Amino acid sequence: MPMDYFVWAAVSDKQTVVVDTGFTAEVAAKRGRDHLRCPTEGLREIGVGCEQVSCVILTHLHYDHVGNLEKFPEATFVVQEEEMAFWTGRYAGREHFRHTVEMEDVVQLVRENFEGRLRFVDRNEEIVPGVEVYRAGGHSAGLQVVRVETEKGKFVLASDATHFYANIEEDRPFSIVHDLSRMHGAFDLVRSLAGSPAHVVPGHDPQVMQRFPPARKGLEGVAVRIA
Ligand SMILES: [Zn+2]
Repeated sequence: MPMDYFVWAAVSDKQTVVVDTGFTAEVAAKRGRDHLRCPTEGLREIGVGCEQVSCVILTHLHYDHVGNLEKFPEATFVVQEEEMAFWTGRYAGREHFRHTVEMEDVVQLVRENFEGRLRFVDRNEEIVPGVEVYRAGGHSAGLQVVRVETEKGKFVLASDATHFYANIEEDRPFSIVHDLSRMHGAFDLVRSLAGSPAHVVPGHDPQVMQRFPPARKGLEGVAVRIA
């Protein structure tokens, strides 16, 4: 199935929270992915300047979610303790796992930690009013999903807890697995958190770009507005 790659911004009149940071053109070339644009350019198109963003939630450390970190110089990065611990721990270098991350991204996050720029979460936490993270695990050791309170209800940015709508709707886990039983648990968690099945936003489903309207005129196929 074809895959899209998303970054999200949760915007209120008080604060902007970015969810995930995509990956770079260099990593795309190395891994044979089509790189349409730098995510920071996409964010700029919807009025979010990454230089000013103070809060970035990283759902997990796989390469397609944590590139471009240095383009957010003012940000604190929100990570799950279990996810950081895994990628700096005993099994990170094993073949089954290592290809899903760029080592440089992990090293960069270690540097950010030493500079006091990581906010660690152990399980569930409200990050700013209206934006909460929940640890799901399954696809990666400490994958977290993000629930955002909006005028249109409670949306869950499920990230890779469900790559496609089909995964969660058919209870059929994706093939990259850290813990299969927890992947099923992640489906249950996402279902319980979302206002309705239509409030689940999968991590990589091209249908997301069809189901939601463009963020503004001219951004068809580039950015959608969830709520
Ligand atoms: Zn992913």
